[in-house]
Order: sequence, then structure tokens, then C-alpha cells
Amino acid sequence: RWGSLSDKNVYDWSSEEEEPDGRARPVQVLLVKDDHTFELDEAALSRILLAEEVRDREVVAISVAGAFRKGKSFLMDFMLRYMYNHVSVWVYAGDGPLTGFSWRGGSERETTGIQIWSEVFLVDKPDGKKVAVLLMDTQGTFDSQSTLRDSATVFALSTMISSMQVYNISQNVQEDDLQHLQLFTEYGRLAMEETFLKPFQSMIFLVRDWSFPYEFPYGQEGGMKFLEKRLKISENQHEELQNVRKHIHSCFTNISCFLMPHPGLKVATNPHFDGRIIEIDGEFINNLKVLVPWLLSPRNIDVKEINGSEITCRGLLEYFKAYIKIYQG
Ligand code: GDP
Ligand code: MG
Repeated sequence: RWGSLSDKNVYDWSSEEEEPDGRARPVQVLLVKDDHTFELDEAALSRILLAEEVRDREVVAISVAGAFRKGKSFLMDFMLRYMYNHVSVWVYAGDGPLTGFSWRGGSERETTGIQIWSEVFLVDKPDGKKVAVLLMDTQGTFDSQSTLRDSATVFALSTMISSMQVYNISQNVQEDDLQHLQLFTEYGRLAMEETFLKPFQSMIFLVRDWSFPYEFPYGQEGGMKFLEKRLKISENQHEELQNVRKHIHSCFTNISCFLMPHPGLKVATNPHFDGRIIEIDGEFINNLKVLVPWLLSPRNIDVKEINGSEITCRGLLEYFKAYIKIYQG
């Protein structure tokens, strides 16, 4: 492993961060260990964020967070496919097995932490600005008290360093999804300086396997109507329910929601499924074609801001290190 930041080799890409064939890959930058301590791979993170082409660019940091086995990495692989193929037919590009973040269920051990795609994408915004886009895959377990605390820290950190947090949830927005979100963002807010600005940028509730399209249609509009109803504060609500909702509203500059259909039984249950489009339900693909550009198209991505100023990749690295110190106590 590389030593400290001052070590010259930190910027050397000919390390284990790249596969022998030189292809980009997910890199575990934050790991929660069995004894509940956090390990930040500062050298790996530095290699990614201080690469010459990106370090002084303003950064768009997109995070997908939530419990295991809910299709996050599967979605991220489509996000990668979009980033690598900026054409109208991106969804089918190189149609074969889906690759990128590892998503196949089963074998892999579940780790709580943050993975970052080793390649930071340079994207031209319509206003002529070239920005750096960073993709993060964030996982937690959410099952016992101790792992909930770990997950809260991981979720808080990823929310603090991202400009857009996609909260990936299954089937519905349940009261405990909201309570978790309150706990996580409270963790984050405590660690940040007090400002008059809302501490976080965009929060997107991404509901997977939505099964009531006749009540609220798939997509973003149906999602917004549904979320408005779920986040509504009313007089006769229990105080606790009101507080959760007030808290969530007070934390994010933008809150939105997208309802995704079920991808079909081959995706959900067939152990040999490898991501081929032909085996995925058409309805899912149609919505994917809306969702991914909605999240990632050059006009829709926002640069990360902290206390009202725009942050570069280099700046993000400093914040990441400072925030992790707070949780390491
Ligand atoms: P992660 O742990 O959240 O990253 O989940 P993965 O992306 O690894 O997916 C876990 C399993 O769920 C895989 O077998 C996928 O084929 C399957 N899967 C992916 N997307 C969906 C979805 O939208 N709904 C359902 N029911 N299963 C999905
Ligand atoms: Mg995953």
C-alpha cells in the first residue's frame, strides 16, 4: 500500500488501482471493518481525484446509496454505459453482458462502505463549462443496531460529499426508510459547520419494483406526486412523523422521486442472468432510458457546492479527509 499523501507515488496509476489490461474499475475507498472502525484508502482516493486532467475541474459527485441486494450496482452499470456511450442508443451499446460495478447476487461478501469508479468523466455542460463527474456506489446493511450506525456514517459521508444522492429503496417509501434518512442526515449535519444554507444538495428517492402504476405512474412525475403525499405534513399526524418530514425538507435543496417498474423475473431470480437487455422487461428499459439521462445528462448535472461555493476534485478530497476524521473520533 502507498504511504502518505506526500509520497510521490501516490499519483502513480501503474498500481493495483488499475487492472492489468488498464481498464477502469470500482475502487473501494471507504471500508467499514468488522470491528466497526472505518478505513479510508486515502492513496486510492488521491489517485482518482488528483489525476492531472480532473483535479482542478469542478466536480459533480453522484452517489447511489441504500441497502444491499436492491439493484444499486445493476443501475450503476447502466449509468456507466450511458457515460461511456453518449449516443441515443446508449442503453443497447455493446449489448452483451452488463459490466462495471459488480452486481451479480450471491457469491460476493457484503461490505459496508463506498466504492468509486476509477475513471472520472469529463463532461461539457451546455454553458460551455467542462466538469468532472464522479460515480459512487455506497452500501449499508441496516439490519442490526451496530450495523445501522455504520450504515448511517457511510450514508452521511456519501451525502456530504455528493451533489446528488440517489436513495435506492425497494417497492415503497416506508416510514422506516424516512426514519433512516433522518438519522443519516442528522449524522451528517452534526459533522458540518452551521450555515444558513441547507446542508445538502439533491436527494432522489428511487423506488424499485414499484407496483402501483395505476395510482402513481412510473417515472418522475408520478414519483413527485407520490412523494409529495408521503412527505406531507399534517396537523393530525403524530409529532414524530411530522418531525421526520420537517427534518428531511430542511436538509436538501432539491428533493425528487422516480418510480421504477420491476425488471422482470429473469433479472430478479435467474442466477445465470448476465445483464443482457433482451432478458429485461421492456417497461423497465423504457423507464431506464428516461431515468439515466434525467440523472446524468450534461444539462441536468450540478457541481458540488459546500457552504455555497463550488468544489473541485482536489477540494473534494480535502473535505472527504476532514469529514472522515470527525467520524473516526
Ligand atoms: P446491490 O447490492 O444493491 O448493488 O444490488 P445488485 O445490483 O447487486 O443486485 C442484486 C440482485 O438484484 C441481482 O440479482 C440483480 O439481478 C437483481 N436486480 C437488479 N435490479 C433489480 C430491480 O430493479 N428489481 C429487482 N427485484 N431485482 C433487481
Ligand atoms: Mg452493489
